[in-house]
Amino acid sequence: MTETGTIGERLASLRARIAELARAAGRDPAETALMAVSKTHPAASVAAALAAGQRLFGENRVQEAAAKYPALQQSYPDLRLHLIGPLQRNKAAAAVALFDGIETLDRPALAEALAREIERQQRRPDLFIEVNTGEEPQKSGVWPAAADAFITQCRDQWRLPVVGLMCIPPEGEEPAPHFALLRDIARRHGLKRLSMGMSADYDTAIRFGSTELRLGTAIFGARGT
Ligand SMILES: *Cc1c(COP(=O)(O)O)cnc(C)c1O
Repeated sequence: MTETGTIGERLASLRARIAELARAAGRDPAETALMAVSKTHPAASVAAALAAGQRLFGENRVQEAAAKYPALQQSYPDLRLHLIGPLQRNKAAAAVALFDGIETLDRPALAEALAREIERQQRRPDLFIEVNTGEEPQKSGVWPAAADAFITQCRDQWRLPVVGLMCIPPEGEEPAPHFALLRDIARRHGLKRLSMGMSADYDTAIRFGSTELRLGTAIFGARGT
């Protein structure tokens, strides 16, 4: 993983690399979006990415995003912001107001809260259901065995705008089986979008059909925390 150069230079070389990997996998490079994950990095870093043409961003905390993004959203109406960290039910209203995508839908109570806010605010962020492919007890995400029923329930019972699935493979494990599992569940439900792949494993994720690569370190450098 190279982290030399400016944010703009890293974005340019990552875009080229992603397009090359997509073509090598027989995929359309336009279907592998690069999401810049800016958690812990200052608004100035986000502004540098915006100046370099980046428009899709990810944050993992509602409060941090709420402090950093509204001014940038004013200046760049085409900026798209996704929530990629766990969401508490009592922050559903703030999340629906702020984010264009919410990727961590994983339980009925949250689905209900989101449905209520989507109706009330008349805003429909793209929703991704997070699957805990590694069945790690400390991690969020619906377990694979419960995923089919939960996806169906989100669509039929709450009429939620579910567009895809998201996963974070266990650290230190080969990610390929996790990406394959996510892809297979999505296929069964006709879900087109797969949010998978981070700085260390995005090449594998592209081969397994990822449509959103969530890259932090490779763009903004190491996080201080
Ligand atoms: C931080 C984070 C990323 C980015 O991780 P890097 O290894 O820095 O690319 C991707 N997805 C989620 C859910 C994250 O929390």
